[in-house]
Formats: sequence, structure tokens, C-alpha cells
Amino acid sequence: MDQEGFRKAAHAVVEHIIEYNSTLSDRPVLPKIQPGYLRDLIPSNAPEQPEPWPLIQADIESQIIPGLTHWQSPNFMAFFPALVTYPSLLGEMYSAAFTAPAFNWLCSPACTELETIVMDWVAKALALPDCFLSTSSGGGGGVIHGSASEAIVTTMVAARERYLRVRADAEGLRDGTMERDDRIAFLRGRLVALSSDQAHSSTQKGALITGTRYRSISTCLSEDLSLTAPRLEEALQQCHADGLEPYYLTLTLGTTSTCAVDDFASIATLRSKYPNLWIHIDAAYAGAALILQEYQAQYSQDIGRISDSFNFNMHKWLLVNFDASCLFVQNRNHLTRALSINPSYLQNNFTESGLVTDYRDWQIPLGRRFRALKIWFVMRSYGIEGLRMHIENSLRVGETFTAMVVERRDLFEIIATPRFALTCLRLRPGVAVAARMKQRQVNEKMYMSGDAELPHPRSAGIASWGASDTREEQTIKVDAQSNLPGREGQEQASETLANNLTKDIADLINSRGEIFITPTTTARKTLIRVVSGNPVASKEHARKAFDIIVRTTEEVLDKCRQGEDLRN
Ligand code: PLP
Repeated sequence: MDQEGFRKAAHAVVEHIIEYNSTLSDRPVLPKIQPGYLRDLIPSNAPEQPEPWPLIQADIESQIIPGLTHWQSPNFMAFFPALVTYPSLLGEMYSAAFTAPAFNWLCSPACTELETIVMDWVAKALALPDCFLSTSSGGGGGVIHGSASEAIVTTMVAARERYLRVRADAEGLRDGTMERDDRIAFLRGRLVALSSDQAHSSTQKGALITGTRYRSISTCLSEDLSLTAPRLEEALQQCHADGLEPYYLTLTLGTTSTCAVDDFASIATLRSKYPNLWIHIDAAYAGAALILQEYQAQYSQDIGRISDSFNFNMHKWLLVNFDASCLFVQNRNHLTRALSINPSYLQNNFTESGLVTDYRDWQIPLGRRFRALKIWFVMRSYGIEGLRMHIENSLRVGETFTAMVVERRDLFEIIATPRFALTCLRLRPGVAVAARMKQRQVNEKMYMSGDAELPHPRSAGIASWGASDTREEQTIKVDAQSNLPGREGQEQASETLANNLTKDIADLINSRGEIFITPTTTARKTLIRVVSGNPVASKEHARKAFDIIVRTTEEVLDKCRQGEDLRN
């Protein structure tokens, strides 16, 4: 493709992208294809001869778009958003055009210097304490990673090395001695990373990658699924009692299932007792809300007081497209000491002078993309004011949705406090049981008329409460004398039934593809998570989603009353 060919093709692509965006609301958000659909459409070998661009581009509409889940649709309310905006797209274009894998400052000074500057912009926009700025006296700073998982595993390596060094130093073991190496090797095998049972699986995965152990700390609904100081302290003491060395703790601002927030303020009281425990705050999604003063007032100071590192994905809710995970550390030396290796081909006078940043020492890969451009473009095009308006809009849409769920409290219950535009709802167990009782009456009528058999006597009591449904496995507590479920058993059975029907509702909604929502199970409750961070999402989209959920719920309940199995 020559320059003229590129000009024409690029213009055509831009037109197509604009058209795609303008039709997003009308497209089903989920694709209607079967696994392997693309194999039948695309030849199994690359073409021998060059093909003209119009032919290639036409296949986007006919072959690729039918297999897309439309994350940019305002009807996408699943997982967390992963947004893209035009200024961000333009940043990607330039980044691709320059393609400079700037691992060292010298490999493209503008890439490194812009990254340092925009990371400071971001830290200031979120009102993170000064200790996270590149200009801080303690050696803080920000770096753009590809994902929150990458930020976690990278800081885990820094934490591991710091922990081992501090322990060995404290024991008076001299560098380069066999004794020190042996002691470090022993301690390494005892290291354990911790997080609450609500934290994202990336902490567990990070422990896997760093070759350390992992323990999760349980939380409960009565504490809003938040990790508290007493629970943390108990877990730390248990680790020590078991001869383990807790070296890393992930706290979360906005957990994946319910957007729960760990109790930073109470945990801060433990900080001085465990100075060598690296605390990372994972705010992958909800960190974007810190652009608003009300959230800054609530969280920013505590983040500075307790955490060694903090990250959030600008590529989720803050209008920069994937990938742009912003990691901030209070002391960048811990990263560079752990990750810096200097083969001769990477050495240069600028690095030696100590005056420049080489971001390769702040991450796992060597090469890196010029991601700072898209952050720069988005922050300038929207202004901090525009970013605030966007987050405020999402919060308003979320509140509208929550209010509608509350109005139908006869049908649904909300699990965990709705936060950051996310609402988690579930069918009320009482409603599920009433529907199953109705089915029991239908069965009995049919039995009396000789058209059906009643369930086996041993399961009769259970069946009347719906636990004959075997999808969610559990042992129902049965009263020893009557062989029927006791009060606790009945509660368990109704919970199981509500869980299974909630999952049926979510699956049926997603199979139709009008909206996309996520079912999940946490604290033994199956929930439907509804969250929309889309900039064009409005109260009307929230209303439409809620109407679909109510309609589908009625449908599932009707089928349950008739005794129909939705999975058939
Ligand atoms: N942490 C939290 C709280 C998340 O919700 C997620 C993903 O949604 C992650 C971490 C992992 O994000 P990434 O895909 O950037 O690794």
C-alpha cells in the first residue's frame, strides 16, 4: 500500500468507524453466531497474491462485525466498561505510525518524557497524594502498564525482593555470602500474598507467577463484603503462626463482583505494625471515580497513607481505550532494584548519567507502546471538567437503575451497596419459592387426576421448597425426626432456588442479546450485575434494561410455575 492508497483506505476506515458507532444502539449487543463460525468464512491459507483494500475492508462488515460483542453499545452493561473515544483512537493512530518500542529514554525520549508528565497529570486529576508524583522527594512516580494484572504481578516482584532484602539485612547477613543466599532461598518458600475473597483473581495469579503462596481472607455481607482491620490482623497472625511470611496485600477500591471497598481507614491503623508488608490498592475500575471531589475526599488521603502502590485502568471507565493501566508507586527504586538488568547492548550514557527514566525497569517486558499519547489527547480534548461530567453521567444512570430495582422490591433484592454505577440484584427467595409451590400444586392436581407421579417421598419435603433443583449442589439440613428440611434447611433451599432462577433470568436475557449483563455468585448468592459507563448511556437505557429484566423474570417465574425446565 503506497501513500495514496493509505490516504484512501484510511479515509474509508474512518467513515466506516463513524457509521459503525452511529448504528451501535440498534445492533444486538451480543453476536448470534455459533463457535467456529469464522472458519467457514475465511480461507484456511493466506492469499498468494495481494488483495485490494476495498475487498479486505468489505469483510469487516460481512465477517468480523457479526462475530463482535459490542462493548461500545449503550446496551452493554456486563463486566465493567472498556471504553474508547475519538481522541483516544487518534492517539492509537499516531502511536502505531511512530511505532517506537521505547524501553530506554534514548529509544525515543518523547515517549518516556510524555509518559512521566501525563502520569503526573493523572495523579493530580485524581488528587492522589504528592508521594505518587514523579517530582516527590520520596521517589514516587507513575507508569502505564497494559493491564491491572500486569501492575499487580510487577509490584509483587518488587514487594518480594524488598521483603527478602529487608529480612536478610535485619538478620545481619552480608550481601554476596552463601549464608544470605540460603536464608533468602528459605524465606522465599514461605512468602504468602494476601487479599480478601472479593479481590480480583489477578492477585492469586500474580502469586502463581511470582512463585509464592496465596491466601484469601473471608469477608461477609453484613460488613458489605469489605476487608476490615480485625479480619486482616487475624489472617496475618495465622500466617505467622503457620510459619509463613506475608509480604503482599491487595486491597480493593471497587471489587469485581459488587464494587465493594475495603476498609482503608481501619487498615491504616495496622500499617506501622507491618511496615514490610507491601500494600497495593487495586482500583482497576472504580479508581476513575476519583476524578470527582466527593470520592477524592473519601479515599485519596487514605490511599497515600496505606499503600505502596495504586493502580486503575483508564481503559475501563475513563475514556481511554484498552490498554492504559495507570500504576503509581511511592518509591520507584523498589521497582528498578527488582527489575533492572543491564546487558551491554542496553547501556548508554544517558542511562548511566542517572538523569533519565528507563521504563523497561518498571515493567516485565522490554519493549513498550507509546500509550501516553492517547491519555494526553483524551485529557486535553475533554479537559478534567469533561471527564468529571462523564463519570457523573454514569453515576446518574446507575442511580436511576437502582431506584427502579428498589421500586420492585416485591420481586428483587439488592445485594451489597450499589456503588460506582453498579447495581447487583437478585430474585427474592420468597418469590422463587412461591413460584415453585405453585408448581407443586400443579403436580399434585395432575397426580390426583392420574396424569403424573409425585416426587420420591425422601425428597418430598425438599421438593416442596425447590431444592430438587440440582444445579447448585448443596446438602440440605434435614430435621432428624421428621426427615423434612428444618428451618435452616428451608432457608438454604429457597436460597438455592433463588440462585438458580436468577441465573436462568440472566442467561435468557443474554441469549436474546438486547442487553448484555453479567451473572455472578458471591457470598453464596447469584446476582445479576448491571453497570453502564458508556458516555452515551442515559436514563432511557437504564429503563429499557430494567424493563427487559422484569419481563424476563416474569417469564422465568411463569415457566417455573408450570414446571418447565428452561434448560430444555
Ligand atoms: N482488578 C479488578 C478490580 C478488576 O475488576 C479487574 C477486571 O475487571 C482486574 C483487576 C483485571 O483487570 P486487567 O484485565 O486489566 O488485568
